[in-house]
Amino acid sequence: ELARANQELRELARRDALTGLPNRLAGNERLHDEFVRMKRTRQPYGVLMMDIDHFKEINDAYGHDGGDNVLRHIAVVLRDALRESDFVARFGGEEFLAVLPNTTAEGALVVGEKVRHTVERSIAPIGRRLTISIGMALAQYSHPNPDVAVRMADRGLYEAKRSGRNRLIASDLTNPDFVAFA
Ligand code: GH3
Ligand code: MG
Ligand code: MG
Repeated sequence: ELARANQELRELARRDALTGLPNRLAGNERLHDEFVRMKRTRQPYGVLMMDIDHFKEINDAYGHDGGDNVLRHIAVVLRDALRESDFVARFGGEEFLAVLPNTTAEGALVVGEKVRHTVERSIAPIGRRLTISIGMALAQYSHPNPDVAVRMADRGLYEAKRSGRNRLIASDLTNPDFVAFA
C-alpha cells in the first residue's frame, strides 16, 4: 500500500498538471538517462528546444484561460507529431523539450521540421494559427555531460527567434560557423 502511494507521488511530481506531459524534473531525468545510455551504446540522440511564438499576445487577447487551452492543444500536437519512442516534456511556461533517442542529425532535423509544420498547420482552440520556434542539437559521445546538447539546442532556439520565428535551427557549439536551417 505504501509502495503504491510512493509510486503515485513519484509520478505526480514528474507530471505537468496543466498539459499532462512530463515536467521539467522528468525532462532532466530523461536527459540524464539518455546520456548514460549513449555513453554505453555510442548512439547519439537528438534534443529539440521549442518555444511558442508570441505567446504573450495570446494571453493578452484571450486571457490566461485561453492561453492555457492553447498550451494543452500544443501538448497534444507535439505528442502526435513525435514517435512513441520519443520523449516530450513541458520544460517551462510555453517551452517544450523533446528527446529523440537513436537519431542522426538528419533524422532529428526531419522530426523537428515535422513538429514545426504540424504546429503551423494546426488550428488552436481559439481559432487562430500558432507557430513555434525550434532549436535542434545532437548529443554526441564526445560530450562531457547532457547539458552540452541542451545549450546547443537553446542557442538554435535563440537564433530561430532572432531570425524571425517559426523556424527550426540546428547549431553546434563546437563549430560556431555551423548553423543548419530547415
Ligand atoms: P517569443 O516569440 O519571443 O517567444 O514571445 P513570447 O510572447 O512567447 O515570449 P515571452 O517569454 O515574452 O512570453 C511568454 C508568456 O507565457 C508570458 C507568460 O505570461 C506566459 N505563460 C507562462 N506560463 C503560462 C501558463 O501556464 N499559462 C498561460 N496562460 N500563460 C503562461
Ligand atoms: Mg519562452
Ligand atoms: Mg514564446
